[in-house]
This record gives sequence, C-alpha cells and structure tokens, in this order.
Amino acid sequence: MTTGGHGTDGVERRGLMFVLSSPSGAGKTTLSRMLLEREPGLKMSVSATTRQMRPGEVEGRDYFFVTKPKFETMVEQGELLEWATVFDNLYGTPRAPVEAALSAGQDVLFDIDWQGTQQLHQKASIDVVRVFILPPSAADLEKRLHSRAQDSDEVIRKRMSRASHEMSHWAEYDYIVINHNVDEAFAEVQSILKAERLKRERRTGLVGFVRGLQAQLQG
Ligand code: 5GP
Repeated sequence: MTTGGHGTDGVERRGLMFVLSSPSGAGKTTLSRMLLEREPGLKMSVSATTRQMRPGEVEGRDYFFVTKPKFETMVEQGELLEWATVFDNLYGTPRAPVEAALSAGQDVLFDIDWQGTQQLHQKASIDVVRVFILPPSAADLEKRLHSRAQDSDEVIRKRMSRASHEMSHWAEYDYIVINHNVDEAFAEVQSILKAERLKRERRTGLVGFVRGLQAQLQG
C-alpha cells in the first residue's frame, strides 16, 4: 500500500495493518493499550460507532460517536474502509486517518470484529496481520465482563451468548493468543508485531542493500 519505516541503511518498509479481534472481555483493550504505550510507530485506528458512549469513554479517543444518519452518510460517501453491525450498533473504520498514518510510515492498530477483519483482508491482504485473542475459559470471560461493570446484566448476557459465535471465526486469523496472563499475552502480541515488521515482502531496498554489502565484501 505505502512505504514507511525508514532506516539509515536504505531499507524501508511498507506500513502494516495490525488487527486484534476477540470476544468482548478477553482482554483486547488492555493489550491494545499496552502495545500503543510500548511500540512507537504504531497508531490506533479510532472507529466511528452509533452506540452510546460508556462512562469513562472519550470522544475521538475511544470512538467517534455518531448518529445513525451520520454513519449512513459516511458509508455512502466511501469514508469508511470497512464497517459492520455489532450488537445492534454500527461500527466502522474511517479511511482517511488510516491512509495518512500508513503514508507517514506508521503501522496502524485495529480493534475490530471478524466482519471488519474480513473486509480489510479482502482489500489489502498483504498488509494485514490478523491476531485473535481467546480467553482461557468461559468463567474467566464472564468474570472480566462483570468486573468492567460498565454494561447492564442484560447487555453482559447478550455479550456472553455472542462470544461463542465470535470465537467461531478464530480460524480466519493468522495468529491465536490465549490470554492466561496479561503480561505473557502482551509479550506474544508484541513478538508477532516485531516479526511481521521484519518480513521480507514488506521491505523495499533490500536488493540494493545486499548488493552494496556484496560489493564491499568483494573489495
Ligand atoms: P465495544 O462496543 O465493546 O466497544 O465493541 C464491540 C465490538 O465492536 C468489538 O468486538 C470491537 O472489536 C468491534 N468494533 C469496534 N470498532 C469496530 C469497527 O470499526 N469495525 C468493526 N467491524 N468492528 C468494530
């Protein structure tokens, strides 16, 4: 898609789209936050949604909270890279900030569901890295949903029943991380990002770099 990740050796890198998906409550938000704090060069894609803002959420940081008509206009005008209906609400990824970040040589982190992941992958498969986070058990998932205490019991029940459906898409992802322990899961996710950044097909200028090395070696 674009070239980024400039080094001093003339070897550059295409920006990548790093997708984290999971059922709600599997720890994806915490892992995203840790990744953004510790990985310079990674920028969060902030989605637009028609759902209600939760306590503690901030407009423009967690989501762009929009009305349904506004969302529909964004869809019609091609402003969204992907969009889907999740829990009766609409969610979508604004296209312009993603393209700007990739052009500036940054990687982009997406917290989107399996439907959005499929759409991104269809559009730009080589640039998309798909990671699915699983909870270690159903009991753990339920505990985390309750401890967030942001949603009503009815919403939590709905999310539990949706979790099994969402998990059925695990095989469409490149990597699976089981979140037994947040620090270990974070180390695994970070390793995936680091390795994907080094992939040969994402890097340009390697031919010239190796030729230069060979020329020096041959004196
Ligand atoms: P929540 O309402 O808990 O913030 O998010 C509910 C679900 O919507 C999560 O699984 C999240 O990954 C997904 N989601 C958030 N933003 C987007 C988006 O822009 N596109 C798609 N397809 N899913 C999204």
